Amino acid sequence: MSTRELVVLGTASQTPTRQRNHNGYVLRWDDEVILFDPGEGSQRQLLHTGVTATQLTRICVTHFHGDHCLGLPGLIQRLSLDRVPHPVPVHFPAGGVDYFARLRHASSFHETAELRPEPVDTDGARFALTGATLQARRLRHPIETYGYRVVEPDGVRMLPERLSAYGIVGPAVGELQRAGYLEVGGRRVTLAEVSRPRPGQRFAFVMDTGLCDGVYALAERADLLVIESTFLNSEAALAAEVGHLTAAQAARVATESGVRRLVLTHFSQRYADPERFAAEAREHFAGELVIAEDLSVVPVPPRR
Ligand SMILES: [Zn+2]
Repeated sequence: MSTRELVVLGTASQTPTRQRNHNGYVLRWDDEVILFDPGEGSQRQLLHTGVTATQLTRICVTHFHGDHCLGLPGLIQRLSLDRVPHPVPVHFPAGGVDYFARLRHASSFHETAELRPEPVDTDGARFALTGATLQARRLRHPIETYGYRVVEPDGVRMLPERLSAYGIVGPAVGELQRAGYLEVGGRRVTLAEVSRPRPGQRFAFVMDTGLCDGVYALAERADLLVIESTFLNSEAALAAEVGHLTAAQAARVATESGVRRLVLTHFSQRYADPERFAAEAREHFAGELVIAEDLSVVPVPPRR
């Protein structure tokens, strides 16, 4: 079974604290190892998690506020230092192409790694992964911001007891799956009769944003939703003004979108006790709740 899990590098918004590094996340998804929003210090945080720069296959940046991108210069140079042999696509808001160019060449280094900028210029832009799709959706923040999701296509799960009831064994099973039906003893057995739908897994990454359609589009049926909850409800007015979410809003999105495991992160340094985010979110979300901690690993929940 391939690994699908979130590795948390940092969980602080705006400024790091003694307990929390600037934002930063890695998603291991089969052969893909995707780095999201590396804030300052992400390179050193990686070292603690066992994820190497060479393992990274792709980088996704939601927007060019410092806590989501100031780790890029060091990490980009590290890719070259380690002579990463594979090309590394980098997705970011197209309007921030100048920021990206400056971060990429922030200081002198010998560039050997092949970085492939693939800016996001449309809401709903899709990029092909092996066996899944990476999709970007526009979010609501003072500067151009996109959230991302990884979507595996829905499939079917074969039901062994039904197959054996029809006497379908061995290569005939594959034949049935390919054709969608099989003639057995003069009768046509359809795929639907011997299988049940198996929803593809979904991972969603929703960073700096006020509540908007893009948030719901990304969160829809996510097995694992990583979502910013910069503020608590006591600061709801401020959150709306500056384009951020509260823990209560994030939790309601998760409930309304059928999310299975909810990861709250990107906490304002004004709150010392992370339990406050948990307490607020639990009032609105009954599923599995994780208050992200630096260097923690959160598996994508097993398939349904
Ligand atoms: Zn921001």
